[in-house]
Amino acid sequence: MTSTNDIRRGFLDYFARAGHQPEPSAPLVPQNDPTLMFVNAGMVPFKNVFTGLEKRPYSTATSSQKCVRAGGKHNDLDNVGYTARHHTFFEMLGNFSFGDYFKEQAITHAWTLLTKDWGLPPEKLTATVYHTDDEAFGLWRKIAGLPEERIIRIPTKDNFWAMGDSGPCGPCSEIFFDHGDHIAGGPPGSPDEDGDRFVEIWNLVFMQYEQEANEIVGNLPKPSIDTGMGLERIAAVMQGVHDNYDTDTFRALIEASESLTSTHAEGERKASHRVIADHLRSAGFLVADGVLPANEGRGYVLRRIMRRAMRHAHLLGAAEPLMHRLVPALVAEMGAAYPELVRAQPLIEATLRQEETQFRKTLDRGLKLLDEATATMTPGATLAGETAFRLYDTFGFPFDLTEDALRAQGLGVDREGFDAAMAEQKRAARAAWKGSGAKASDELWFDIAEELGGTEFTGYANDTSEAQV
Ligand code: ATP
Ligand code: MG
Ligand code: MG
Ligand code: MG
Repeated sequence: MTSTNDIRRGFLDYFARAGHQPEPSAPLVPQNDPTLMFVNAGMVPFKNVFTGLEKRPYSTATSSQKCVRAGGKHNDLDNVGYTARHHTFFEMLGNFSFGDYFKEQAITHAWTLLTKDWGLPPEKLTATVYHTDDEAFGLWRKIAGLPEERIIRIPTKDNFWAMGDSGPCGPCSEIFFDHGDHIAGGPPGSPDEDGDRFVEIWNLVFMQYEQEANEIVGNLPKPSIDTGMGLERIAAVMQGVHDNYDTDTFRALIEASESLTSTHAEGERKASHRVIADHLRSAGFLVADGVLPANEGRGYVLRRIMRRAMRHAHLLGAAEPLMHRLVPALVAEMGAAYPELVRAQPLIEATLRQEETQFRKTLDRGLKLLDEATATMTPGATLAGETAFRLYDTFGFPFDLTEDALRAQGLGVDREGFDAAMAEQKRAARAAWKGSGAKASDELWFDIAEELGGTEFTGYANDTSEAQV
């Protein structure tokens, strides 16, 4: 079996042999992009190279980029534990051409690596192209010999990429692996495409147009290539398993949580073990890159991820803080590829331990309140927003944790009621402040606090940067 670590190495070596500059992963906190919460695609660190703002001494590059999609435009948090293919933290393998090669070479590279070097059966691969992209359609026929019915024309934005309202843009071509008809789901573009049978493994973006205010205004002088392949998804394919959580890395993490909780990842416990393994990775890597739990901003996204995992640890019967004891398994699996994890190990452990110790003080009582509130509710019903707000305000339950807790029972949570309760609390605090006879300038403080979103952070609503791949 090829290990995930070997697959990462194999990808980077293939493209290095083909003349690409291997670049280390950038940190998860974007270095010069305030519109973006976390790096969520391999191209993010190269944005300015694609637009021409920045020059590099090479015209092609390759990387394995750490990505987090747990808020903002790409939020996969709610999928985690419940689909075979989504993580909050994952690695995106990519090859990039900055005005060097274009479509033909990009498709040739992808096809050669997948079917020749890695030996995947060509009949299990399907490609999509943007519906008007006859050139890509023809290249898949010519280079890969794919039959026409396995080159699917997609008319939606899923197959058209843009950096933002202005800048480079162009059609994409995605490569899917068919895990077999024993798994539910249809081919891309079909009504049941969201199933796990046909899994998107690799997205090739052909940057060929220039956009201004959402209008294509011309061709780029030097068309470019940006690709992204999910390491965990290709590892599942190459290790002959359908589910990312059955790959070597995830098995090792799940075995650690099984052993520390003396439980098995089966039945209703399966999702808990998966959530714990996934969130251990995102929490560990975020702390290693300098994010600490907080009540706002990036730190609140981290806190939400940590607390979600901690509720699942509690569900598995952990009587003491658990997450920090799993860090050695994470470092054993991923520390060689990411030395920052080794360096930060003591900080990651201390942060998880402190957060879990603190949250456990209120978790039990909060869950009791939740049990009481839902005792008479039936599937399809919605928990009152005020209750969710009380859980948030008094017991430290992030909104999405309450949602996740009720999901198994088929219950929802009233978001509008929650927001209204939050607004009401702010109003009451302001009125009390006013009533105290304090000066007008204090009011200003409330305005500022409100504007900065003092208490809750639900992702940058104005996260405009389109950084898929
Ligand atoms: P999907 O449609 O499956 O959600 P996507 O189209 O959002 O994927 P892209 O933005 O095209 O994904 O990212 C490039 C590649 O990164 C994908 O082809 C996939 O292999 C991988 N990927 C994307 N999101 C995730 C995730 N949440 N967890 C693991 N891998 C992912
Ligand atoms: Mg997605
Ligand atoms: Mg997709
Ligand atoms: Mg995609």
